[in-house]
Amino acid sequence: MIEFEQRFSTEEACIEYLLKLRWPEGFRCPRCGHSEVWLIRRELYKCARCRFETSVTAGTMFQDTRKSLKLWFRAIWHLTSQKYGANALGLKRVLDLGSYQTAWAWLHKLRRAMVRPGRDRLWGTVQVDEIYVGGEKADKRGRGAVGKALVVIMVELKEDKMARIRLRRVRDASGPSLEDAIKEGVKSGSAVQTDGWSGYGGLSELGYIHEVIRKDATVGINVLPKVNRVASLLKRWLLGTYQGGVQISHLDYYLDEYTFRFNRRTSRSRGKLFYRLVEQAAAIDPIPGHVLRGGYATP
Ligand SMILES: [Zn+2]
Repeated sequence: MIEFEQRFSTEEACIEYLLKLRWPEGFRCPRCGHSEVWLIRRELYKCARCRFETSVTAGTMFQDTRKSLKLWFRAIWHLTSQKYGANALGLKRVLDLGSYQTAWAWLHKLRRAMVRPGRDRLWGTVQVDEIYVGGEKADKRGRGAVGKALVVIMVELKEDKMARIRLRRVRDASGPSLEDAIKEGVKSGSAVQTDGWSGYGGLSELGYIHEVIRKDATVGINVLPKVNRVASLLKRWLLGTYQGGVQISHLDYYLDEYTFRFNRRTSRSRGKLFYRLVEQAAAIDPIPGHVLRGGYATP
């Protein structure tokens, strides 16, 4: 905490950090590639050759923000330094933000930066199964699945221990839905372990080594052991951090945050998580407010 405060005590220090992150070999004009630039005013640069103006935050998640980078960095620190994550109320309080809506929007933007689709796909042996999340209160007629979302859990195994995970909400348990999720989360050529559900029947044709490790299959229940472990941790985390107050329409964001945390659970340095999240926030496109409020935009 002290180290963080010292390192990012000024707006200039934050800009400098972002600049180094985006252009490790020195600034380059995004338009003509020229390396000589003039600093016009705070974080705004002008190319000495083509006169193109750009800022350190242009084209990143931090673009168009009226708040300082210093405040954003504090938000990221708050989010990554806590073992179980942060909710909007807590962030609002810690940063002294004016409104709950701002805190909520910030957290959702940062969650979008946590997992970049197509990157870091799982590899090797991967156990896959699907579970229902949310809508804990089954309705009176006992239709348990009302208001629940179906989530595919992919668990990479290293020497029979859990390594990394990927989580993906799917529309249903049909072959195309499950296959899309697996293609996005697992590299072709991997050994994919599933139960006998017919929706997994086409995996061999997609280039996976398909291993059915349990014959019987019911969608969403009686899941495979490693997936079951991740599922119970995920449900406990959702309940504990958000008191179960997770809207299904925004579930994907929470799944991304959980994935980010889980995959770095053995990292002893909180600083590394901070670094990774700033880096990824600088690598994703700006997120307009209406996209955020409307739920998850699938790339
Ligand atoms: Zn230029």
